[in-house]
Amino acid sequence: GPQRIDKSRHGIDRRNVSRHAIKVCEVLQQQGFEAYIVGGAVRDLIVGLEPKDFDVATNATPEQIPPLFRRARIIGRRFQLVHVVFGQEIIETSTFRAPASEHQQTDDHGRILRDNEFGNHEQDAVRRDFTINALYYDPSTEQVIDFHHGVEDLKKRVVRMIGDPQTRYREDPVRMLRAVRFAVKLSATIDPDTRAPISAMADLLENVPASRLFDEMLKLLTCGHAMDCIRQLRQDGLHQGLLPLLDVVFEQPGGEDFIELALDRTDHRVRAGKPVSPSFLFAALLWQQVEARCKVMVQKGEPYVQSLMSAADSVLDEQTVKLAIQKRFASDMREIWFMQPRFERRLPKSIWRMFEQPRFRAAVDFLQLRAAAHQFDSVLAQWWMDLANSDDAGRAQILEDLA
Ligand code: ATP
Ligand code: MG
Repeated sequence: GPQRIDKSRHGIDRRNVSRHAIKVCEVLQQQGFEAYIVGGAVRDLIVGLEPKDFDVATNATPEQIPPLFRRARIIGRRFQLVHVVFGQEIIETSTFRAPASEHQQTDDHGRILRDNEFGNHEQDAVRRDFTINALYYDPSTEQVIDFHHGVEDLKKRVVRMIGDPQTRYREDPVRMLRAVRFAVKLSATIDPDTRAPISAMADLLENVPASRLFDEMLKLLTCGHAMDCIRQLRQDGLHQGLLPLLDVVFEQPGGEDFIELALDRTDHRVRAGKPVSPSFLFAALLWQQVEARCKVMVQKGEPYVQSLMSAADSVLDEQTVKLAIQKRFASDMREIWFMQPRFERRLPKSIWRMFEQPRFRAAVDFLQLRAAAHQFDSVLAQWWMDLANSDDAGRAQILEDLA
């Protein structure tokens, strides 16, 4: 059976656990179900990091959960789970699932296409990726239930696959990216058996649907250690084709500097607990390419603003196909880009209109990045920043001083 680890050994302070997640467990347990906080939250709490979000695992089926809560709904993607909503916080609650079996549909490469079979607690632990991600916290006993010596691996800072690594990568190649991300984020090493197959299996990432790759890359880029993760991915031969946009930018002259600046700023924001917007990040990652294409058109005699728009369209069209950058990000990215030429000219009347743009603040942040990369005058960039940071009266004053 599993190890039941007491508070004195895992060290989780109950005050750092989301009270909403505790509530979900308590309600389910009162109804006679098993329920635990699971996954990244338990892992992060044990090493003293602040969890991003809290997930719950239970033996209640998706249909049994919503009636127990005021606001809860079944979400049906690759598998059904329940979102229990408390104000701003969503507790993702999923039913114990069984690991891959012969009954499951896989593609020609062994990748699992559907896994919706319910299972018991032990099975749920087996189908998780790494031992450190298969820890279950019971808020009522304050014990951690550990089937795979995950607490020990966590203390040793080792990322170790549950089961046979090759099989598990074949089932879901995204796990290679996850191994790298967790190792970097936790300053851990990847266990030799878990690491060994990665380079040879890197090509399997090509079969992963673009939208899943996008989700996983977004997690990697916003984990607070994006730059280190990317360095590691390149070392492991995992970078090619994985993020087509990164291949492109790293090949552009000067592209690397701009990306490093953007990722560095993002890392700092994440680590300071500030939100990062995916649109801003992707706008930054693709900017060099947009600029380069725009320049070619300008040299052919096209007007600048039109060139910028067609360059943006062509870059986004390509990326949407390859990476599935969702439409909602694409329109924000356009706004951020298209505001850039408007920072060159300071016409008070048009500046008041710029304030009304929902992405004005992000566009000014983007301008700081360009200034840091020596693409824009830094004094002028600061002027815009001061303007963005002021209230209406302050803005009026700054604009009056301009005239
Ligand atoms: P993060 O801090 O980035 O959210 P996490 O461990 O919570 O890290 P999630 O992607 O939120 O990562 O997944 C939650 C849990 O689901 C994981 O801890 C792991 O147990 C399981 N899991 C997620 N993705 C996979 C996968 N590809 N294969 C197996 N198990 C997975
Ligand atoms: Mg998570």
